[in-house]
Amino acid sequence: MDNRLLHFVYPNVCVVCHSLLFPSEHYLCSACFNGFEPFMEGAAPERAFLRSIESHFGEDTLFDRAWCRYVFHKHSALQQAVHAMKYQGLFNLGIFFGKELGRFIVSSGMDCDAIDCLVPVPLNRLKLIERSFNQAEKIAEGVASVLHKPVEPRLLQRVKYTGSQTGLTLGQRKNNLAGAFEPGKGKIPRRVILIDDIVTTGATMVSAAQALRKGGAETIHLGALALAAKE
Ligand SMILES: [Zn+2]
Repeated sequence: MDNRLLHFVYPNVCVVCHSLLFPSEHYLCSACFNGFEPFMEGAAPERAFLRSIESHFGEDTLFDRAWCRYVFHKHSALQQAVHAMKYQGLFNLGIFFGKELGRFIVSSGMDCDAIDCLVPVPLNRLKLIERSFNQAEKIAEGVASVLHKPVEPRLLQRVKYTGSQTGLTLGQRKNNLAGAFEPGKGKIPRRVILIDDIVTTGATMVSAAQALRKGGAETIHLGALALAAKE
């Protein structure tokens, strides 16, 4: 049976393994959820994550702090869950993931008073029509419910159709995404967390952060559900 139909007919099944859920479980059974590989906590992994993005793009002052909740492996339970979120319209799963990321940000000792708002990376319009919601925005809503900060999805706009990044080299990704974003509607506050679902090389985040900086952001943090493992 088609997964979407399965979930409709039997709503209380795990989106990954389809086993029946206990009343306390939502979307994922605890076995699948506990199988996700958490990103390591602490200052050293955070610095390594930032360095890996900055070394690609030579943007050594773009991001102040960076949080990533999981490591993303191909063919993993997390990939199946993210796929279900994006393509089966399970936007509440995005909010669930966002809460996980939000708790991770708080546990890192971040002073949430020093953040003005959360800005999700915008989807291009065609993808938004196809999926009906932006998964980064739903993740940002989950983070916002933990941090008690507003989500501002209109502060950035996607001005260039960039197509899929899959299969492109790092240089091609960078060129493809150059100028992809512009400041959108409203004044961009000084201190912002930029939110996306999966970071692969960081090209999207760098391009979006450049637009935030252009619009007046001074301190830009990066929050991602997962970092793609090099496989
Ligand atoms: Zn499961």
